[in-house]
Amino acid sequence: MSWRDYVRPVTPYVPGEQPKESKVIKLNTNENPYPPAPGIDVNAFRSEAAVAGGEGPELRKYPDSTAHDLVSAIAAYHGVEEEQVFVGVGSDDVLGMAFLTFFNSEKPVLFPDISYSFYPVWADLFKIPFKTVPLTEDYRIRPSDYMLPEGEVGGVVFPNPNAPTAILLPLDSVEEIISANRDSIVIVDEAYIDFAPEGSSALSLLPKYDNLLVVRTFSKSRSMAGLRIGYAVGSKEVIAAMQAVKYSYNSYTMNQPSILWGCASIKDDAYFRATVGKIVATRERFTKKLKELGFTVLPSSANFVFAGHPEVPASEIFAAARAKGIFFRYFAQPRIDNFLRITIGTDEDMDTVVSFLNEYLG
Ligand code: PMP
Repeated sequence: MSWRDYVRPVTPYVPGEQPKESKVIKLNTNENPYPPAPGIDVNAFRSEAAVAGGEGPELRKYPDSTAHDLVSAIAAYHGVEEEQVFVGVGSDDVLGMAFLTFFNSEKPVLFPDISYSFYPVWADLFKIPFKTVPLTEDYRIRPSDYMLPEGEVGGVVFPNPNAPTAILLPLDSVEEIISANRDSIVIVDEAYIDFAPEGSSALSLLPKYDNLLVVRTFSKSRSMAGLRIGYAVGSKEVIAAMQAVKYSYNSYTMNQPSILWGCASIKDDAYFRATVGKIVATRERFTKKLKELGFTVLPSSANFVFAGHPEVPASEIFAAARAKGIFFRYFAQPRIDNFLRITIGTDEDMDTVVSFLNEYLG
């Protein structure tokens, strides 16, 4: 025997490539092309006080383990109680913590076959049984597929809009899934919901369902992927259960800059709305151009589109674009291996993409 026999066997999640060159057009990880809110004081931690001690943030001290300022800002923003908000290091941390807290039975957790590829990784890591539920022919989530006989479901998780399809599940269908699974937790991963029409979020269902957990992130719509801020909103009881698991694992998840700058982002709602509005407008404009070039484009409610060309393999377009410094995401996976996931950048970025595609296909 050797220690190698005791290593936990895992198949890790593979994040999108982060190229070092700055000249590339990077449309492979659904980042926001615009900067975070201008109110973010990037000098806050350069000051004498931050370094040596005194007024304001002090790096020698641990951060507030409850991240109270940020929790309170998020609670006020959504009109919920502070005890209904859980914050973590990006929504990946929040989702992982939720899996660990709530998916703790012998029954399988359900999620779509084409979805966020981190779900099966957490399930394997935490030894949670799971079953994937195929999307329909037209890549949609069908609520009735999540309605198993009572007692057969250990939990449900799905992104809305789904990733990488970008398709939004209407709120009444989301509610059908939650109400059919009252005995287990249903996690709605709303990483991209800010790019969907208003009124699409499951947050409005919280007063009705104590088995609902809504997960959000600052990475996409708030241009803060680099700071790693995610959160979940649920009933006080659900959030208390997550807190107990968090404090059994790592009490200081949120660092001082994330807390301070996260609050600054929430304060500037006008900037947030303007940025999201620009991306949605660019998405619509870009989708139209892709269709003119003969692409099939799934209807997107996110900050990316999922598109394929009926005559040219997506893998070839992916490689040719990469050679020109344009990065898309490609999944060599059954059912979606002729699609590219293209993040929406600035209008200028997308014009460059359209010119490239025009030339390549022409
Ligand atoms: N959920 C979905 C559906 C995602 O696509 C992503 C981005 N990879 C995440 C959650 C995690 O994002 P973050 O950890 O940056 O909040």
